[in-house]
Amino acid sequence: MTQDTIRKEEKRTAHNDLDQILTNLSLLNDKAKGCLIQEREQSEKEDITLNDIMREIIEIKTRVNKPSYAQMTMNSKTIPVSMIPPARTAQQNSQLEEEKKKDKARIEQARKDVILTTREADEETKTKVENIEEETLASSMKQYIQQNAKTDIAVEDVKKLGKNAIRIRCRSKDDATELREISWDGILKGIMTETTEYGVVLHGVPKQYMEDIEGLMADIEQANNIKVKRIVPLRKKARNPDAPTLSIVIFLNSPKEANTCIDESVTINKKYHNNTVITSKTLYAAERYTPQCQLKLCYNCQEYGHKANICKKKTVCGNCAQGHETRSCPNDELKCANCNDAHRTGHHQCPRHKEEIEKMEIRRNRIPPNFTC
Ligand SMILES: [Zn+2]
Ligand SMILES: [Zn+2]
Ligand SMILES: [Zn+2]
Repeated sequence: MTQDTIRKEEKRTAHNDLDQILTNLSLLNDKAKGCLIQEREQSEKEDITLNDIMREIIEIKTRVNKPSYAQMTMNSKTIPVSMIPPARTAQQNSQLEEEKKKDKARIEQARKDVILTTREADEETKTKVENIEEETLASSMKQYIQQNAKTDIAVEDVKKLGKNAIRIRCRSKDDATELREISWDGILKGIMTETTEYGVVLHGVPKQYMEDIEGLMADIEQANNIKVKRIVPLRKKARNPDAPTLSIVIFLNSPKEANTCIDESVTINKKYHNNTVITSKTLYAAERYTPQCQLKLCYNCQEYGHKANICKKKTVCGNCAQGHETRSCPNDELKCANCNDAHRTGHHQCPRHKEEIEKMEIRRNRIPPNFTC
């Protein structure tokens, strides 16, 4: 064998070895990916939070690195307590479980409810629904259902939800499913069945974007590969009207897609508005929209927990706590309807108001960050 052939042979072997190493590496890579996916599924199953994992790692590190007596005398540094995230207490865990159960119960109930909305209807229908008595509505609805449904449908009750929605509660899921397919044009023109929706909240969105909601919807759908149902501002009245940004709620039909938004954030590609560049592609953190955690103060009865559009209680003044509308209050002296102190109802210093804010905060912390699918 000549020197040359030996060199060639060596080169070939080296090449083969390299190939083998590369193959092994890619196999390893695939394995690692598999592990990651498995781990992710596992963590979803067991609801291990990042905090729990971090705490465990730090605990393991502390154990592994436990210094010998000699080391201890040499170096007294240990991991500061502040670095260890607190473990969830048993109480917090059971609260979380409870909220999850409630979440499931809500979904179960929603399957038996048919929600009708006047959102797409004309003014005539809107006014009609707004002004009709609940009892009258219920009896005509039940009659209409009897005449138009293919099977016998057991309706538990019919309720007005605010000014522009009606809830028909059925005894069974199947009844509700059938009812969702009925056309309501024969009783209230333009009224439509509302599909269950899952909202995610984005903060700090440029206000100009909301001037072209259709465009924004298309942008978000395309950039995130999701189907958007509708987009609304989080608050009807902006806290600071001069702020250049606002918080929005994106409603989706799919709880899975809503969860993807929460887990991976939402991209908005929009760069132009009236041919002017506003921003480049931006990633917005998304959080679960939880209307059940929103502070509600009824401006009709001045009580917390509901809004005026569904209130059936007596009118109470938000200035003086007497029985008239706030806007037609003739009194100068202030009196809170909830604590009798000398301030308007809903004043930020009111002990009852503070209590309500705290209650909502606790509720918010208990609600799972993702939707139950
Ligand atoms: Zn009320
Ligand atoms: Zn008054
Ligand atoms: Zn008060």
